[in-house]
Amino acid sequence: MKENIDRIYQSIAKVAAGKEVKVIAVTKTITPEVVDEALAAGIEYIGENKIQEAERKLPLLKNKFQEFHYIGHLQKNKIKKLLALEPALIHSMDSLSTLNQLNKYLIEIDKYQDILVQVNTSEEESKFGLRADETELSRFMEKALTFNRIRIKGLMTIAEYSNDEKVLRLCFSKLKRLFDKLNETLLEGEMNVLSMGMSNDYLTAIEEGANMVRIGSAIFGERNYNKGIK
Ligand SMILES: *Cc1c(COP(=O)(O)O)cnc(C)c1O
Repeated sequence: MKENIDRIYQSIAKVAAGKEVKVIAVTKTITPEVVDEALAAGIEYIGENKIQEAERKLPLLKNKFQEFHYIGHLQKNKIKKLLALEPALIHSMDSLSTLNQLNKYLIEIDKYQDILVQVNTSEEESKFGLRADETELSRFMEKALTFNRIRIKGLMTIAEYSNDEKVLRLCFSKLKRLFDKLNETLLEGEMNVLSMGMSNDYLTAIEEGANMVRIGSAIFGERNYNKGIK
C-alpha cells in the first residue's frame, strides 16, 4: 500500500506542475486497521460516503487523520449525525431544501460548514448532482448563497464511467468551465476547490484543473463490499 500511495503522490506531482492537489483517500469498506496503515504511509485526508460506517470507524482513528470529508449523498435525517463527525468538507450537496435544513441546524449549534455543490457532468440519470447548465447552477447558487452558515467552497463531480479519455476530459472540462464562470459572476472568487477525479481518471482530472481528487481502489485495491465495516 505504501508503494501505491508513493506512486500516486509522485504521478500527481508530475502532472500538477507545482500546483497543490489534495488527495482524499476514500476509505469506504476499508477496515480501520488498514486505514491506519494508509495514514502511517502518508495519507492525511479521508473520505467516507456512509454516515453509519463513518460513525463506527472515525473514533477508532482519532487524532490520526487531518480531515474527514463526506463524499456521499446527504439525507436530511442524517444531518445531525454527520455534523457530529465534524466533516471538513461535504462534497455532495445538490438540494436547496437539504441546504436549508443544514443551515438551520448550523445556526442552532452556532457553527459554519464548508460544502461543495455536486454537478452531474455525465448526464447519467443514476447519478446525483445538478445539471451542468450555467443558468440552472446560477439559480441554485443565488439561493444557496443566502444560507449564511454555509460556505460554498467549490464544485464536485463524478465523471462518466468510461475508459475513453475524450469522454472523461469532456466531463472535467465542463466542470472547470462552470467553476470559472460562477466564480466570476456570483461567487466573487470565493470558490477554491474543484473536486474531480478518482482512481482511474485522477491524472486526467488534474490536467483539466482538479485540485482535489478522491482515490479509493488505487490505494487500497479493489473494494470488497462484503468485508470490512458496514
Ligand atoms: C467510491 C468513491 C470514490 C473512489 O472511487 P475509486 O474508483 O475507488 O477511486 C470517489 N468518489 C466518490 C464520490 C466515491 O463514492
